[in-house]
Amino acid sequence: MTPFVLRSPKSTSEVVALLDSNPQARVIAGGTDLMPNLRRGIGAPDMLLDLGGIEELKQLRRDGKAWLIGAGVTLQSLASDSQILAELPVLAQAAGAVAGPSHRSVATLGGNLCLDTRCVFYNQSQWWRQSNNYCLKYRGDVCHVAPQGARCHAAWSGDLAPALIALDASIELLGSGGPRSLPLADFYQDDGAKPLKLLPDELVTGVRIPAQEAGMRCAYRKARVRAAVDFPLAGVAMRVLMSDGVLTGLRVALTGTNSQPILIEGSDALCNKAVSAESLAALGKLVQKQVSPMRSTVTASNYRRQVASTLAQRLLGELSAS
Ligand SMILES: Cc1cc2nc3c(=O)[nH]c(=O)nc-3n(C[C@H](O)[C@H](O)[C@H](O)COP(=O)(O)OP(=O)(O)OC[C@H]3O[C@@H](n4cnc5c(N)ncnc54)[C@H](O)[C@@H]3O)c2cc1C
Ligand code: SF4
Repeated sequence: MTPFVLRSPKSTSEVVALLDSNPQARVIAGGTDLMPNLRRGIGAPDMLLDLGGIEELKQLRRDGKAWLIGAGVTLQSLASDSQILAELPVLAQAAGAVAGPSHRSVATLGGNLCLDTRCVFYNQSQWWRQSNNYCLKYRGDVCHVAPQGARCHAAWSGDLAPALIALDASIELLGSGGPRSLPLADFYQDDGAKPLKLLPDELVTGVRIPAQEAGMRCAYRKARVRAAVDFPLAGVAMRVLMSDGVLTGLRVALTGTNSQPILIEGSDALCNKAVSAESLAALGKLVQKQVSPMRSTVTASNYRRQVASTLAQRLLGELSAS
């Protein structure tokens, strides 16, 4: 690793001032994504700003029926909080499916929402990438996944973003221009080299999850190469509303298949009728059309397309029947 200065600001405004005055600085939360990358020579910040001492980022509280969750809340807290487990199981399940217990005890919500995209040609040692002439995402000119193209197709592989997008959450940001809030889905863009619309002097302070309708059902499922400690090949988060056996609301969000987490469009067409074999097949088709997995993981693109579609159909079947 290249040398860096470690600073421990005590407030979010201090972080923003430091980011503003030093464009090379990076924030570090749990460090479970950033440190492995820095050790591989991906990035060389001259200053790291440790968020661990900022109490205001650790809030986990209700605001009426909405939830406010600070960027510094650990994934272990989200996975084990009894109210989150009862009311927002999709979030607890997604948090509990990230990495392993020791990672989750330090890994944070903010770090998960801002983690780097992944690719078999990128998450490699310095000498491996150098001997491959690097790649378009960092220090190189060519994308080895799609050499004719001009963009990076590395996959968004965070588990929490789809869960929060399914719950219609917004993300809270603070920069030198002041605070701003946007729907979480709008925080991302389909570019593996720059998946976040985070400004250089901005910090994620937390997320706001709006009040959910009574009787809402939600869940998260992910497919991975190993059954534990592994990123999703495809992950599906779903929120379902039912009334007298009729599907009245459906939000489906995915990870692992594109360079950003995606909210499936067109799911409203499946509402206002009972869930049937036809509607499950229609959901499967919607997912297949909207995912665009590339050869950026160890498994075939078409496998990830099929598994995303199958997970979505199974989840809708389970949630509508429960
Ligand atoms: C073996 C292994 C397995 C893993 N498996 C998974 C998995 O299955 N699913 C998954 O989603 N992740 C996985 N991860 C990645 C990582 O552990 C998690 O995504 C974790 O939640 C990252 O959070 P962190 O606090 O450690 O982030 P950090 O590493 O501290 O930061 C990650 C990035 O976010 C930025 N950042 C952090 N906090 C903020 C903030 N408040 N505002 C703005 N930017 C911020 C940092 O600058 C950095 O760029 C795995 C990692 C390892 C090493
Ligand atoms: S998708 Fe292409 S540019 Fe992006 S990390 Fe992989 S090889 Fe590099």
